[in-house]
Amino acid sequence: MKLTIDQIRQAAQEAYQEVLPLTGGVNAHYIPFLANIDPNLFGLSITLVDGTKINLGDTKYKFGIESVSKVHTAILILKQYGAEKVLKMIGADATGLPFNSIFAILLEKDHPSTPLVNAGAISACSMVIPTGDSNAKWAEIVQNITDLCGSAPELLEELYESESATNFNNRAISWLLKNYNRIYDDPMMSLDLYTRQCSLGITAEQLSATAATIANGGTNPLTGKAVFEPSLAPKITSLIAAVGFYQTTGDWMYTSGIPAKSGVGGGVMGVMPGLFGISAFAPPLDDAGNSVKGQAVIKAFMQKLGIGIFQSQDVTIVS
Ligand code: GLN
Repeated sequence: MKLTIDQIRQAAQEAYQEVLPLTGGVNAHYIPFLANIDPNLFGLSITLVDGTKINLGDTKYKFGIESVSKVHTAILILKQYGAEKVLKMIGADATGLPFNSIFAILLEKDHPSTPLVNAGAISACSMVIPTGDSNAKWAEIVQNITDLCGSAPELLEELYESESATNFNNRAISWLLKNYNRIYDDPMMSLDLYTRQCSLGITAEQLSATAATIANGGTNPLTGKAVFEPSLAPKITSLIAAVGFYQTTGDWMYTSGIPAKSGVGGGVMGVMPGLFGISAFAPPLDDAGNSVKGQAVIKAFMQKLGIGIFQSQDVTIVS
């Protein structure tokens, strides 16, 4: 099957126009800063593995990256430790439970399940080398995100303060991880790094570049930089496919056909291996904390293209 760039652009435009009037969902209310973001913001960005960009709507607005950053730091520890060790120290399984579940920690015997829920993501921040040095770890985290996006994120100070002042559940998670020996550095320092990375401002354009880098086997199509080993790309895509939408991941994969990761800032980032990365942004969320319009627009786009990760046809994009 051959797809032209024009067909992709048209599918994106149609999907965007169709979903634009969609209402429903509410901004994340448990983080005061996010509750006040304009709910009408809406952007869709696609980056093909050849570097072609398709941007519609608010793709340059800097929103809180939130849980999408779990993907970036999972890539960092995969680079630093390798796939085997990450599997052993954190895991690669779905929890089937909400992103901030304490119950999930108690159910697992010896590891936090996946770097893509809060427990595993805090654990991942604890693993970032050099351990013991918060500033140096932060520099690694930001550099890695910059490499994946092809440009630097910017800390949203107000969001960081807002999250730090209200992250009681995550504090409990961090201490529980300590209790079960599933955190590998100072727990409060690891939590602070996690909170800070969640508070980075990012654009839909930057997230679609990250997704395209994963889809392209670790080389950023915009900068040409090899950010990670090609062998890690299927590992990170499988983590996203297993738990990217938390307790609604199965429904998402079944209906959309594309592995994607959400964040409560309203961002969604999807990876179509070998073809493209896609990102949508719209603040109102469903009950599981996933962007309502973000999901709808990516689903509509995929349906229009008629492709999906579980379909067996070979797809090539021609110009
Ligand atoms: N910083 C948020 C939290 O830990 C991220 C959650 C999310 O995006 N699902 O609660």
